[in-house]
Amino acid sequence: MFADRAITYTFVRILSFFTVTATPIMSYCTTFTEFQRYLGRSPRYYARRLALDILHILESPKYRGNFKQPRIHFLYIHHIFEDEIANFRKLVHELATSHTFITHSEAVQRIKDGTVDKPYLAWSSDDGIQNNLNAASVLEEVGASCCFYVNPFSINLTDERAIKQFCAEKLDMPPVPFLNWSEIEVLQKAGHEIGAHTYAHDRVSQLSLENFQEDFYKTDTILKQHCGPIQHFAYTYGTFNDCDAKAMDFVYDSGYASGTSAVRGCHPPTGYHAKEGRLLLRRDQIIGAWPISHSKYFISRSVRQMTRDNHYYPKTWTTDG
Ligand SMILES: [Zn+2]
Repeated sequence: MFADRAITYTFVRILSFFTVTATPIMSYCTTFTEFQRYLGRSPRYYARRLALDILHILESPKYRGNFKQPRIHFLYIHHIFEDEIANFRKLVHELATSHTFITHSEAVQRIKDGTVDKPYLAWSSDDGIQNNLNAASVLEEVGASCCFYVNPFSINLTDERAIKQFCAEKLDMPPVPFLNWSEIEVLQKAGHEIGAHTYAHDRVSQLSLENFQEDFYKTDTILKQHCGPIQHFAYTYGTFNDCDAKAMDFVYDSGYASGTSAVRGCHPPTGYHAKEGRLLLRRDQIIGAWPISHSKYFISRSVRQMTRDNHYYPKTWTTDG
């Protein structure tokens, strides 16, 4: 009897030793706190935080008036980790009291039609990180939808080494799980949209036009197979230096409804005219864990600074694009 138990015990110990050692060392980043630890907190981080606290105090008397301004305002995120949910929820619910949430497609159409009669917000998210499901459920609480810009390379990606490399090289973040096709289907069924964000998050400005066209075609083909027609494209990294007019013209010539940057700003009700140039969306980035005051400051500042030029490609694109 004792011998039996001793053998079983030893066997279990040996088995668990192998199970434990066989378990990959890989651990995904699941909290914003871990994510921040990966980035590190430099003196610059604290200086920026303090500066934003002060800017918020100076700007806050304008919030009420600015938030009432008719406009199309795109807000975008990358992730909503577990420890960001509560704060993100607070921000979304607060913005819902002063803004009307519309889909990305409706927002684009309203800019084109010039039907911007009140303050509209449209949400989007880049990179297809799995914790975007948290964002989706928070947005659904207020009837808002989101356009998820994804990279086919990372969808369904389970190879941990590949994930780690992709996150480090392309996204500058610790390894995180990505959405799979069935989760994307669930998002679409809940009323969210899917947009293209290049195949494997390459920098568009570093690709030849030919290579970009191939990349775009490949991305569009894969997304179309799973999600139906794709209407929107967000180029990676998002500054004006990361894309150019020729690449974006190709996106429109391929039948897409919009191309977007990640440059801060929003779109005024004063009409967009196709004759004056092609549309390039501006978006304000939101980090779920940020103090709500900081997000409100950026939103208010974009309202204060909005001009008709915000509808179009930047001037730099026409000279060197
Ligand atoms: Zn991205």
